[in-house]
Amino acid sequence: MIDTNTIQNILETARIDEVVGDFVTLKKRGANLLGLCPFHNEKTPSFTVSPRLGIYKCFGCGKGGNAVNFVMEHEHFSYPEALKYLARKYNIEIQEEEQTPEQVQALNEQESLYHVSDFAARYFADNLYNHGQGRAIGLTYFKERGFRDDIIKKFMLGYAIDEWTNFTDHAIANGYDKKYLESTGLTIVKEDKMYDRFRGRVIFPIQNISGRVLGFGGRTLSVDKKTPKYVNSPESEIYHKSNVLYGINHARTAIIGSDNCFLVEGYTDVISLHQAGIINVVASSGTSLTTEQIKLIKRYTRNITILFDGDSAGIKAAFRGIDMVLEEGLDVKIVLFPEGDDPDSFARKHRSSEVEDFLHKNAVNFIFFKTRLLLDETNGDPLKKAALIGEIVQSIALIPDKIVQSLYLKECSAILHMEETTLMNELNKIRRRNYDRKIKEQAAVAPEKVLVPPKPEPTESTEFDFFSTEYQEKDIIRLLMRYPQHVLTFEVKTDKEVQTYEFPVASYIVNDLRRDELHFRNPIFQKVFDTAAAAIDADTIPDETFFLYNPDKEISALAATMLTSRYELNDWSRVKIVVKNEADRLPMAVTHALLSMKLRVLEKKFDEMLASLKQAPDSEIMPLMSQQRKLQQKIERIAQELQRIVLR
Ligand SMILES: [Zn+2]
Repeated sequence: MIDTNTIQNILETARIDEVVGDFVTLKKRGANLLGLCPFHNEKTPSFTVSPRLGIYKCFGCGKGGNAVNFVMEHEHFSYPEALKYLARKYNIEIQEEEQTPEQVQALNEQESLYHVSDFAARYFADNLYNHGQGRAIGLTYFKERGFRDDIIKKFMLGYAIDEWTNFTDHAIANGYDKKYLESTGLTIVKEDKMYDRFRGRVIFPIQNISGRVLGFGGRTLSVDKKTPKYVNSPESEIYHKSNVLYGINHARTAIIGSDNCFLVEGYTDVISLHQAGIINVVASSGTSLTTEQIKLIKRYTRNITILFDGDSAGIKAAFRGIDMVLEEGLDVKIVLFPEGDDPDSFARKHRSSEVEDFLHKNAVNFIFFKTRLLLDETNGDPLKKAALIGEIVQSIALIPDKIVQSLYLKECSAILHMEETTLMNELNKIRRRNYDRKIKEQAAVAPEKVLVPPKPEPTESTEFDFFSTEYQEKDIIRLLMRYPQHVLTFEVKTDKEVQTYEFPVASYIVNDLRRDELHFRNPIFQKVFDTAAAAIDADTIPDETFFLYNPDKEISALAATMLTSRYELNDWSRVKIVVKNEADRLPMAVTHALLSMKLRVLEKKFDEMLASLKQAPDSEIMPLMSQQRKLQQKIERIAQELQRIVLR
């Protein structure tokens, strides 16, 4: 946990123009900066950055927020990841909040594993250039594969010396604990003996998104058939194979940029393509594709292109894994390499532009690919064709988006020369079957749980809520965030004198709503209100930056929206007029907003009372009616007050 002071420090130090400027070319326009929005496609810039307010706002797609929001949105970081990124950029030391001894212990354990893994990666990499055996065997191998030095260094490739305890001895001499050498799997301990897991192998370190080394793959260079080709680090506290994609740390930004991720099989496929300038490429490295890996890709793009080498048997074996990708709602394309080539060898034999061209031209939609492949195998046999339909529709049924589903049905029925309705019937059968299966699975997991029937498809028209206070709530929150410290002056005439009361807007709103015990129905608005109320209770009146730089990211994002309008950001001379007008009328605006919300709430209450009156037993009718009358009077009073404000 990063403590609140550090968060505050980061938010205050980070300059929005610098943070955005790392990713977007910005041009000065008045007090603001303007550029092309990185979040939607546009030709004329409508993406505005206001250094004064410390926020960005796109008038095309509506995205906006402070520096942290930008980094989260653009880099697909979590909130803590975004804060850490900014802290690094501005050299701010992160003060982590105090943790329990157990948390510290667990963190220290993990950190120790990272340390020893990093140490090992650097040692193996050093061997490659600075050790006789490393140079003669390891480096020669990589050079024969055509890897350039900069690529070798970028991927931290290395070599493990062919001795029993070379690495273990070196690590222990450097003060590394035997315990961590064992738990990372770098050292194998049997009875009292220790020896290196990786011996006489070239080393591929496996890194996470931020580049930390988690584990290793070691490839043998021996021709001996009994030696396994690859030895890999075992699962550890930091290395969970199913969560990791090889190359993701280098590919991340390119995947976002190209909105596509190439998926290959091996380490060398990733490296060769990378060297050929195809950067948006990762490998599932050793494991068959897992849901976690698919979700990791989905953070950056919805498009996967899987590169295949080999025969149709191998590809058919991969169909199951690809169905999982469809199920996650991603769009899958397939590229099949020519006979005898894999991505690695192909990339080595061709120029970068040729590789790019080949991938572009040969990417085929997976559903169509599967349909054609299976259709070829039926040889016109009608029985086989019937089975094929089942298989194709099985894949289509997994796609969550119904519109995409129906597009596929149409296209596949054309490929198969069949009526679309035939496929549709099959699809409905499979849906039914999948549903029954899910129910059975649920029943097996939680027998006591009552099974809920599937939700009806959402209908187009949502019921209109006559008593919604959304608009009124929003208006109050806007005034609260925009003019928290503006002073409202009220004059109250008594018999003898005129008394003047002054309140800052924030205190006035908080007191007024608290007095009537009113709550916001929108939970984010309520959160803003509670946060402001807490500050006021602690004797501080919030200012504009209190909301804009609030550590709660929902609050800061909302503030960015509330504090901007097209006029304000685009034309500062108009700002003054707009703001001045509303600021002048502020006492009126605030009272109006508060009364409007109250009116709505009371009207709803009145409506509910009317409903209960209809069902009430005779004995309760009188008291209810008297309550209702009082309520009606109250409503009329507020309505009159509102009218006075409007007429003034
Ligand atoms: Zn935009």
